[in-house]
Amino acid sequence: MKKHVHRSLMSLGVALALAGGLPASAAPAPTATAAATTTTQLPRGVRPLHYAISLTPDAAASRFTAQVTIDLEVRAPARSITLNAADLRFAGASLTSNGAATQAAQISVDDEAQTATFRFAKPLAKGRHRLALDYSGVIGTQAAGLFALDYDDAGARRRALFTQFENSDARRMVPSWDEPAYKATFALEATVPAGQMAVSNMPAASTSTLPDGRVRVRFADSPKMSTYLLFFALGDFERATAQVDGTELGVVTRRGALPQAQFALGASAAILREYNDYFGVRYPLPKLDNVAGPGRSQFFSAMENWGAVFTFEYALLLDPKISTQSDKQDIFITAAHEMAHQWFGDLVTMRWWDDLWLNEGFASWMESRTAARLHPEWQTALAAVGVRDSAMQRDSVTTTHPVVQHVATVEQASQAFDEITYLKGEAVIRMLEAYVGEDAWRRGVRAYMREHAYGNTVSNDLWRHIDRAAGKPVTAIAHDFTLQPGVPLIRVADPVCKDGRSTVALRQGEFSRDLVERAPLAWRVPVIAQLAGARGQGRTLVSGGKGSVSLPGCGAVVVNAGQSGYYRTLYAPKSFAQLTGAFAGLAPIDQLGLLADSWSLGMAGLQPASDFLALAQATPANADPQVWGRIAATFAALHAQYAGDAAGQRRFDAYALTRLAPVMADIGWNAADGEATPRTNLRAQLIGVLGQLGDPATLSEARRRYGAMASDPQAVPPALKKSILAVVAQHADAPTWDALHAAARGEPSPLVRDTLYGLLASAKNPALANRALALAISGEPGETIGAEMINTVAGTHPDLAFDFAVANMAAVNARIDASSRSRFFPMLARGSSDPAMVGKVRSYAEANLAPEARRDAETAIAAIQDRLKVREQRMPEIDAWLARQGR
Ligand SMILES: [Zn+2]
Repeated sequence: MKKHVHRSLMSLGVALALAGGLPASAAPAPTATAAATTTTQLPRGVRPLHYAISLTPDAAASRFTAQVTIDLEVRAPARSITLNAADLRFAGASLTSNGAATQAAQISVDDEAQTATFRFAKPLAKGRHRLALDYSGVIGTQAAGLFALDYDDAGARRRALFTQFENSDARRMVPSWDEPAYKATFALEATVPAGQMAVSNMPAASTSTLPDGRVRVRFADSPKMSTYLLFFALGDFERATAQVDGTELGVVTRRGALPQAQFALGASAAILREYNDYFGVRYPLPKLDNVAGPGRSQFFSAMENWGAVFTFEYALLLDPKISTQSDKQDIFITAAHEMAHQWFGDLVTMRWWDDLWLNEGFASWMESRTAARLHPEWQTALAAVGVRDSAMQRDSVTTTHPVVQHVATVEQASQAFDEITYLKGEAVIRMLEAYVGEDAWRRGVRAYMREHAYGNTVSNDLWRHIDRAAGKPVTAIAHDFTLQPGVPLIRVADPVCKDGRSTVALRQGEFSRDLVERAPLAWRVPVIAQLAGARGQGRTLVSGGKGSVSLPGCGAVVVNAGQSGYYRTLYAPKSFAQLTGAFAGLAPIDQLGLLADSWSLGMAGLQPASDFLALAQATPANADPQVWGRIAATFAALHAQYAGDAAGQRRFDAYALTRLAPVMADIGWNAADGEATPRTNLRAQLIGVLGQLGDPATLSEARRRYGAMASDPQAVPPALKKSILAVVAQHADAPTWDALHAAARGEPSPLVRDTLYGLLASAKNPALANRALALAISGEPGETIGAEMINTVAGTHPDLAFDFAVANMAAVNARIDASSRSRFFPMLARGSSDPAMVGKVRSYAEANLAPEARRDAETAIAAIQDRLKVREQRMPEIDAWLARQGR
């Protein structure tokens, strides 16, 4: 599953505090290591082998009826069968054993445990049985179980159906052993209206028309797989296909949108070829669709159902009216993520949610690797620093958790889809691959795939294969980084130069923003170092808290050269000054690493908070666009940190403009023919940040172009439409806001329409923000868009958004999927600078969340407290630095 990150803000150029700004955090610390035993919520004596499901959806009535027959194996004599079921009503249950059928004597449903128990008069003997169930259920409005997405098509209201089962919602459509270790085969049959297209994991094996005109589609049997991967969709769809290595690749969209899926189809073809090679096991199903759905979820953007990936339209379609280069890259990356899951997750599945990172860390790493490999011109390899930094932000407060963590409940499984699982998982894999070498790593992965195909695993199964392929022990290092939480800190002493060689002493501590009383944890840390401007690298394994690295030559030494290590680097002051002097000549990836570390260590008080600004000052105008992108994003975060101090904010903004305006002037508003894509992306981002800083030149140019849009088609090119509209919307007055609202209402394309509603929510003017909040729950923007609008308001007005959501809790809860509820409200508050918000979030959590569901509330509280601490303790240093610059 592709976790929902609020990329919309990023691509709108609103940048907010996304990169490096927000102190992240959190989770009620689970203790040390996770147990190796598999958790279950079901009795172990019975297991399913095969499900035959017959489904009849009634989309208009938001209900379905169904029958399922489950072939099962009873391992120990039992009086009853218990399986998972949620919001289902049973009309009948029978058991066939040795050809004789008996009705269930009793059917009992436990809503709290989400189970149903079928009791029979006689005990079930060991061996094979067939359980047949008649039941009905509901079609929801949010992405959980079988759900509906409504959209307008040339004035007509249409409804399409989809399923979303991860982590534990297959039980809303199929009574089942809804845990990843219970793999079985599935035969799905659906009775649907004529003229609609039904899609599932496997191709249709037969289609027949019933006497009443309806159509019955029977899909081919699936391979053995986990319940959360089952998929069904139904609607007025179109499909395009391509053949790759004997697999039929498809994209499925609502009618009319198919041309917008061509890029995704082409990208998927290239990715499939790459993966067939990388994994050493060919993609095993006859077809692989990517099915687009309108709207959005607060939980995810795409899901890796085997053979039938589901992706929200904004992450799959390119609309020539509005899509940008960064949208294109996001589409590629999302497809690469879900397709990596076809192996890591679908073919080989974690045994239980404790090891969710095996799915998500690996798919995240694979998406980055594949983008960098197949599209070197995008230069996405530099994004690795941002990935690691987001993970460390979250991992450096005491409420974090280990990558492998103990999960006991469905709610905890849902909370496990976080930055640690995805981003730390990815960063740790990158470090270990660099440690063993990419060939050894791939050999290990291939052996793991071969041995565990169609099975379930725990993390140690992977480490065993990597150890063997690498010929050196990796498991111990892997355990240090996955079984304990937190971020190592490598303190770098000034280099000692003797006989033409530099020797650098290293000490390992722990990087934390709020650690008070505990001694630092210990890690074995692979370290790569390099002399600034030189080629040769030194490698060492810091162990037992210390180490050293030796390099030929003398000068400034970069530790974590290439930035594959998962740790923060703290240089002695003299070394940092030397590196600042050599900064312009460093590799872009090391420039990014130094910027990220100095900002984070500065905000934590481990080095002067102004060191980041000294690096920004030392960055040449022609530095890599992504280096300037990082500086711009951090400036936006600093700007936000000054909220409530208008004079301080103005002084900082004036400084930031002296750095960013020349870069913008160099790039210009109009794209050059054949320009490098990172420049294209930086243009969009700079317009957003400069708009946020209130740069008068950017504001007037954006408004001029917006005003000329109707008469001059060149004024707002599609590549800049989101950026220009974002500046206009952010600084909108009431008439401008009303005009954008009218444009949203009249917009035929769901993709553009959703974007426009999002823009309405970005207004700085509090009265307009309040109007956006009211609009969000009015029903007008659509069932899944309102929550995103509230979220967007929170980007500028966290207090307003949180108070509104709490005051309208029932209306807001109806607009978010159940698995997002425990995080949605706290996340609104996270950007607040009001000390009173800490108490408000706490009260919300105590009144509405079970104790084990309060991780995100604790995250938000930690972020607010950190911001207050930074304001009081760190910002005076920034002020003093600005004063020294004559500001
Ligand atoms: Zn995923």
